[in-house]
Amino acid sequence: MTQAISRIQRCAAAIALVAAVGCGDAKPMNIVLISLDTTRADHLGVYGYEKQTSPNLDRFAERATVYERAYSTSSWTLPTHASIFTGLLPMQHGAQSDPSSENRSLEYGVRPLAESFSTLGELLRDAGYRTGAVVGGPALRREFGIAQGFDVYDDDLTSPRDRLLGKRADQVSQAAIRLVEGFGSEPYFLFVNFFDPHAPYDPPAPYDHGLLDPDDKEHKVRLIGRLTAGDVSEPVDRYPADQREWIAGMLDAYDAEIRYMDVHLGHLLDAIAASPRGSETLIAITSDHGESFGEHFYLSHGAHLYEDNVRVPLLLRYPGASDGVRVAAQVQNHQLFPTLLAAAGVDVPAGVDARGLEVTGGDVLLEVRRSDLNVKFFGDFFDRDQMAIQSWPYKLVLRTTGERELFDLANDPAELHDLSTLEPERVAELVAKLRSEAASHPPMYEEADRPELRPETEEALRALGYLD
Ligand SMILES: [Zn+2]
Repeated sequence: MTQAISRIQRCAAAIALVAAVGCGDAKPMNIVLISLDTTRADHLGVYGYEKQTSPNLDRFAERATVYERAYSTSSWTLPTHASIFTGLLPMQHGAQSDPSSENRSLEYGVRPLAESFSTLGELLRDAGYRTGAVVGGPALRREFGIAQGFDVYDDDLTSPRDRLLGKRADQVSQAAIRLVEGFGSEPYFLFVNFFDPHAPYDPPAPYDHGLLDPDDKEHKVRLIGRLTAGDVSEPVDRYPADQREWIAGMLDAYDAEIRYMDVHLGHLLDAIAASPRGSETLIAITSDHGESFGEHFYLSHGAHLYEDNVRVPLLLRYPGASDGVRVAAQVQNHQLFPTLLAAAGVDVPAGVDARGLEVTGGDVLLEVRRSDLNVKFFGDFFDRDQMAIQSWPYKLVLRTTGERELFDLANDPAELHDLSTLEPERVAELVAKLRSEAASHPPMYEEADRPELRPETEEALRALGYLD
């Protein structure tokens, strides 16, 4: 089934490409990449959510390839976007949290994406595309490196509200529509980051009905306190009634943010369709990470690699596609890099994995580094880096503190039953596989940019096989 789907996808791409570049003055297809920040796949209608959060995205999906089991490469904004824009894993591009970094413009140490990398923006600009971007989130401001190659990079977050909370979807879509209008009939690459589902969950009217205060410290402290006590194998529906009610209130507000964002996503999609070469446009829509609402006694994102943080929507619509296609096997959204370049007829740079989204079912590699802000707010429990390998259906999580967890995602999608002590041979096999993957994906950023490992970190990494 997957092979058949792959052929269909490749044919659609090839036909569109030939149609675009095969005759004289024809132009290559436009490419639009949209990231829906913090948006969990399972909170969207197209992924089976029972609430009406995403009617416009659902309509888009009717003629798109929908990847049902798509993953980001990390659990927060910068490393995942850097992966999509370079085709590299966080361990290769290095754009992630780094307590030793002097860049603290997000209130914690961050290493930006280095100028040395070839990004989608640069490669498509060099291929003759006009390039423009509008970003809603502070972690994508130009100093973090995603802006490379864009003729226009709208990261205007000058008002106090925007700098803290990001830009609203109405502003993002209006700015993106102005760019589309400006591109006219010239081939373009447009990147748009909608930020609304990110905390705080505070949608504008008429989506702001009956919301609870997500910053209620009492509940937050109680939830995360249980996580740090190591008590993680309890489903949310068994929490005390007051905590369940508080979480339900947050979920309502989060869903309302998605609904509000979807309205403006719809406006942007309509404007693209109505533009001079709208029908010659490849559109990719994904998210950079999910969000935890009490699962494993955690809230927010960026501190672990559980499903609620790393499983994301991924949809791809080629010009001329007339039917929806569902792909069940797992993929990662940095596979967009070779996929989008292929659509533009651009070669993947040397040293970058060229397997696009036609290759499904491969192992998924995940990574998140410690953030000093999390350590400061939530304590020493968060003072660790994590990696995971997902060799379907098994997922192994390793922490630099030495803990490891093994889950069977097919039988335990909520990751409540750690099998690591029951299946030591499988753990050893996956540790070896992760070690091999880490060795074959060495850092590609400058030595001088690499974080200094503290002795205890180095010792733990060595014990886990990351260092020789
Ligand atoms: Zn994000």
